[in-house]
Amino acid sequence: MDKKQSVPIIAANWKMYKTLSETEQFITQIKPLIAKAKARVLVAVPFTSLKTAVDLAKDTNLIIGAQNMNDASEGAFTGEIAAKMLTDVGAKFVLIGHSERRQYFNESNAFINRKVKRALESNLQPLLCIGETLKERESGEMEDVLATQLSESLQDVETSSLKNVIIAYEPVWAIGTGISATADMAQQAHHFCREYLAQHWGAEVAGTMPLLYGGSVKPNTAAELLGQSDINGLLVGGASLDATSFAAIVNAG
Ligand code: PEP
Repeated sequence: MDKKQSVPIIAANWKMYKTLSETEQFITQIKPLIAKAKARVLVAVPFTSLKTAVDLAKDTNLIIGAQNMNDASEGAFTGEIAAKMLTDVGAKFVLIGHSERRQYFNESNAFINRKVKRALESNLQPLLCIGETLKERESGEMEDVLATQLSESLQDVETSSLKNVIIAYEPVWAIGTGISATADMAQQAHHFCREYLAQHWGAEVAGTMPLLYGGSVKPNTAAELLGQSDINGLLVGGASLDATSFAAIVNAG
C-alpha cells in the first residue's frame, strides 16, 4: 500500500465498557478534538450503544461499528446478533476474531471465516483480528500462526471482496497488558502478512488491504508505529475509552 496516498485508519475497541450516557459523553467530547483529523476513525461500541452512537456520529468523521456478530443470517440462537441487525441500526463495520473472543469464547478460524463471509455479503466491513500468543512467539511459531489465521479466516472469500477487508495484527501478549510490540516488531509481523497476502492473493490485494497494529497503543507510541512502512493504522482498546487520549492517537495519524 502506498502510504503517501493512503489515509490511516484509527479504530477504537471499547470492549465491554460504556453505558449510553458514557457513549454520549465520549462522542460529544471527542467531536471537536478530531474535527480536522486526516485519519479514518472507526469506533467499535457495545451492541447497546450502537444506535445512539450512530445518531450522535451523524455529520462527524466517526464511523460506528460492532465488536462481534453471528455467522448465521438469522435463527434460533438466543443472545446472538445477526449482520443485518447491525446494518439496520447503521453499523458500518464489525470486529471479527478478536483474541478475547478466540480465547474466552473458543472461536475457531472456521467460524471466523463464516462470519467474514457473512459480513461481506451484508455490506458490513470486517475488521479481522489475528495475532500470536507469547508462547507461540517464543517457540518461533509466529509466522505459522499468522499464516494459518490468514489463510483459514479468508478461505474462499472472493478476491473482489477482499478489498473491503481490514486486517488488524494484534499480538495477544500485547493486548491490555501495557506491553506494546516495538515499532520494529510490529513492522516485521506486518511485512510478513503483506508478503503472505501477495503470495496467496496477489500484489493488488496485498497492496490495498489495510493492516492495522493493535496492542497497548498509547498516545506516545502511536506516531512511531504509524511511521512504519507496512502499518496502515491502529486498533486501540484501553486508550480509546478516554476521548482525550483517543483523540491524541487519531491526530497522530
Ligand atoms: C484491543 O482490544 O483490540 C486492544 C488492542 O486493546 P489494548 O489497546 O487495550 O491493548
